[in-house]
Amino acid sequence: LHVTAPLADGHAVAPTLDQSRYLTQVMRLKQGDALLLFNGKDGEWRAEVVEVLKKGVILRCVEQTRAQIYGPDLELILAGIKKARVETVVEKAAELGAKSVQLTITQRTNAERIRLDRLDAIVEEAAEQTGRLDVPLVHESRKLADILKDWPDGRKLMFCDETGGDPAIPALQKAGSGAWSILIGPEGGFSPEEREMLRALPFTTAVSLGPRILRADTAAISAMTLWQYAVGD
Ligand code: SAM
Repeated sequence: LHVTAPLADGHAVAPTLDQSRYLTQVMRLKQGDALLLFNGKDGEWRAEVVEVLKKGVILRCVEQTRAQIYGPDLELILAGIKKARVETVVEKAAELGAKSVQLTITQRTNAERIRLDRLDAIVEEAAEQTGRLDVPLVHESRKLADILKDWPDGRKLMFCDETGGDPAIPALQKAGSGAWSILIGPEGGFSPEEREMLRALPFTTAVSLGPRILRADTAAISAMTLWQYAVGD
């Protein structure tokens, strides 16, 4: 279970009301039962249910079962697509180890309104399911030009270009490991000016994901998989 409280020997933890309901009504946990907790900083802890109250359950940390692990520094930059597809992609990004998802607006983005709290709940559940000990951050939409203007030193960009690029695996391996962002365009693709501008950036590796044009959600999932194979961990 993902919680926000610090986790340490003997510490009491009060999950949210929704989480308490899940623990008692779905998992049917009772006083004395054990469960695993993580908060993204203090590793994984075995905890036990101390009390079941009307206003929620009280848990106590018993022992650390895994030290904190951090995944690769992988960000997915996703242009706005249909809401249901964004939800699928953020879930898969959490499963495939992305540290964050940045939503973006490009020239041809035609985005539906997205509720960030819903995306946060999706990545939290996906992180719990995979057993990773951190939860990816999902960032509010920003214009692509602004993201590129504030680009951090040393970060590399895997630009997925549907009009063609180098085969992904050798191109990524040549660029090497480290902090990476993967950029996926909207259903309408990138404009010729955007493509030219992206290719001219010194940190860009422009890649093809194969001879077929993939939908943005399929492209995102296959790009993360190829990245993981080529340079990730
Ligand atoms: N409307 C565009 C067209 O018909 O050419 C297709 C855009 S595609 C649905 C959405 C995004 O997925 C693209 O901008 C690109 O980032 C990525 N993508 C899809 N297929 C790809 C491929 N074969 N190679 C690289 N990127 C791809």
